[in-house]
Amino acid sequence: MNTRSINPAIRVVISSINRPKGWQRPLQIGLLEGLKGSIGSNFPQPWHSKAFCTSRLLNSSAPQASHSGRDFKILRFTPRETEDAWQNIQQNPLFFRDACDCSQCVDESSRQRNYAFFNIPGHITPTLSHTDDEGNIHVKWTNDVPGFDDTHVSKFSPSFVKERSRPFAVRDKSSSEPRWDAATFAHKGCWTRFEDFMNQEEPLRRLLWHLHMDGLVFVTNVPPEASSVSDIGERIGPLKNTFYGLTWDVKSVPQAKNVAYTSKYLGFHMDLLYVKDPPCLQLLHCITNTCTGGESRFVDTFKAASIYAKRYPHFVDLLSRTNLCYEYDNDGYYYEQARPIFWHRNVPQLGGKSLDESLRWVNWSPEFLDTPAYPNPNRALIAQFREAAKAFADILESEELVYQVKMDPGTCVIFQNRRVAHARNAFDMNSGERWLRGAYLDEDVFRSKLRVLGVEGPQDPKLSSR
Ligand SMILES: [Zn+2]
Repeated sequence: MNTRSINPAIRVVISSINRPKGWQRPLQIGLLEGLKGSIGSNFPQPWHSKAFCTSRLLNSSAPQASHSGRDFKILRFTPRETEDAWQNIQQNPLFFRDACDCSQCVDESSRQRNYAFFNIPGHITPTLSHTDDEGNIHVKWTNDVPGFDDTHVSKFSPSFVKERSRPFAVRDKSSSEPRWDAATFAHKGCWTRFEDFMNQEEPLRRLLWHLHMDGLVFVTNVPPEASSVSDIGERIGPLKNTFYGLTWDVKSVPQAKNVAYTSKYLGFHMDLLYVKDPPCLQLLHCITNTCTGGESRFVDTFKAASIYAKRYPHFVDLLSRTNLCYEYDNDGYYYEQARPIFWHRNVPQLGGKSLDESLRWVNWSPEFLDTPAYPNPNRALIAQFREAAKAFADILESEELVYQVKMDPGTCVIFQNRRVAHARNAFDMNSGERWLRGAYLDEDVFRSKLRVLGVEGPQDPKLSSR
């Protein structure tokens, strides 16, 4: 990735993504240096460091404060934390040499590393250079990577070492709670003015949090320009290109190539399940809507799946294991993919977990279905699968789950395409005009923005009250 064109403020954020937050912003554990009064340390010091000799350290891992001192500074880490970190580094030198974030190791502009992991000599050993006033550890290396000399010193904060020492786990930003029905969405859903969303960070952040949690948000007062939908999408990140183009129109036109262009009722579905990486977010900006009918319908498929698992536990496995083939074979394009209706985080699916815990995406697009790929296409199995799928379709269509709204001109809906299924009521083509303009965003783009803005899950300290 080339980030040279990105402005410096963004680059700082990128660096904190590459390296855990502790590196840039060590834990604010308040250990006080230079306190007046009696501060002894019986902490066993395996090395002799300037910081530990001169700062009369508290013999406690708990944050402490002085009541009388004027001239103290905050030491961010306790001696115990620093000691534990140094032990970790000594025990795992290859791992921590590899984690060095210094300007010799990682290019400050591109954020790419300047050597390959396997070029670190297997017999490399760390030597403590010193610990600084904050409790960070500065390490020199014997038998360092070829090309690195004595000037190379790695700096590690105890919080970084601690975080890195845990088993690696990808932060899964997929939302699962809380799930909504029509009433809760009407009460707690998010509507944000275009101008606020475009120009202020907090409304953007709030909208993204709702989009993360609910999978459905609305932007209002959107200018009636054809470019508005890309303005909104690009506020989150680069648009996803498909054979429909970066943006596309949903209009009633003759010789429809896609069922969405007609005025028929369009049942619940998700877009582009026939491509390998379907869009994560879909945007639809309503520019004109004077037709009778044509209300948009949205349903939280995770909520529906949760109900389904309680009502039809014996069917969950069938919908989780039967791959359905989605196909687009038209106009010089041929796309196909096979996926089950319930797609789980882990394989083998379920593995003793409830559907609520393991569900990652729902795949639901009956209009684009080719044929189910039955492992054993016998008559009984096909009949059972039909019954199981019909039961899920009926829950999706249940009135208490479906949030239905007639999109006013100037409204743009954004939804998670693989969580919130959308549908459209039939409309009378002769009663007026209907023009919606759409765009897609990939999951990487959405996740990146969530992370850059520090949008968290249900417990987001800034936004959990709504
Ligand atoms: Zn380095």
